[in-house]
Amino acid sequence: MKTCSIIDSLRDTFSIPEDDPLIIAGPCAVENRVMFEETAAVLKECGVRLMRAAIFKPRTSPLSFQGIGEDGLDLIRETSRKYNLGMVSEAMEISHVGVLEKTVDMVQIGTRNMHNYSLLKALGNQSKPVLLKRGFMADSKEFFLAAEYIRQGGNTNILLCERGIRTFESATRNTLDLNLVPITHISTDLPIIVDPSHGTGRSDIVIPMARAAIAAGADGLMVEVHPNPAKALSDGLQSLDFSSFTRLMHEVREMWRAVHSSVLYSDR
Ligand code: PEP
Ligand code: MN
Repeated sequence: MKTCSIIDSLRDTFSIPEDDPLIIAGPCAVENRVMFEETAAVLKECGVRLMRAAIFKPRTSPLSFQGIGEDGLDLIRETSRKYNLGMVSEAMEISHVGVLEKTVDMVQIGTRNMHNYSLLKALGNQSKPVLLKRGFMADSKEFFLAAEYIRQGGNTNILLCERGIRTFESATRNTLDLNLVPITHISTDLPIIVDPSHGTGRSDIVIPMARAAIAAGADGLMVEVHPNPAKALSDGLQSLDFSSFTRLMHEVREMWRAVHSSVLYSDR
């Protein structure tokens, strides 16, 4: 199997065992201390080492919850320390980059900003690893070239994320393009994780698509989990509750071990 140095260094820094996939999980957005800490405690119990910690939210409607903004920075720092979790948070504009570089462990670029080249360049000039999500209208070449914008700045710690693309299918929010997983391994030296939450938009099919992503050779997953999805301020329909998330962790670990320890996994 190909070694991916960012994966090795994340495993090292956050003590992620070799027989586990890389999991980044947590609410769509940091809403308040109670829900954030409650989620952190469950993640910790499930063996997750990296938490979603979005405070700047790119929302389709300007009337929807836009994230708690810089008011959430202290909460992220405190929760990270208290639960010993690495934090991953999205930068939507260049002014967010410096703020997040000081606070979190990985800076995320969301689907809407994959084509924002000045933002990508700013990510190339800072020290934290970057989680780059695929643009929902971007083909694989455009996606890989977006990563190149970051790399050109000197930052080679880049983790790609397939999160679904827009198609004619209306049963799901996006179409999760698992073809991209082996294509990434064939065409690039970058690792790739899969986000079955945004990729489906429906909590009832997140677990099977998470298993499928691992079977396809994904290096890990990004998953939305919320203490009470029905009350979530964003993306409740696709967020898992704690018991479903616990089941997901069990099933994807089983899948990871089956795939990585057997002849099933001979094509990488
Ligand atoms: C997210 O992960 O918080 C998010 C907004 O996802 P995407 O950019 O893939 O829509
Ligand atoms: Mn979301």
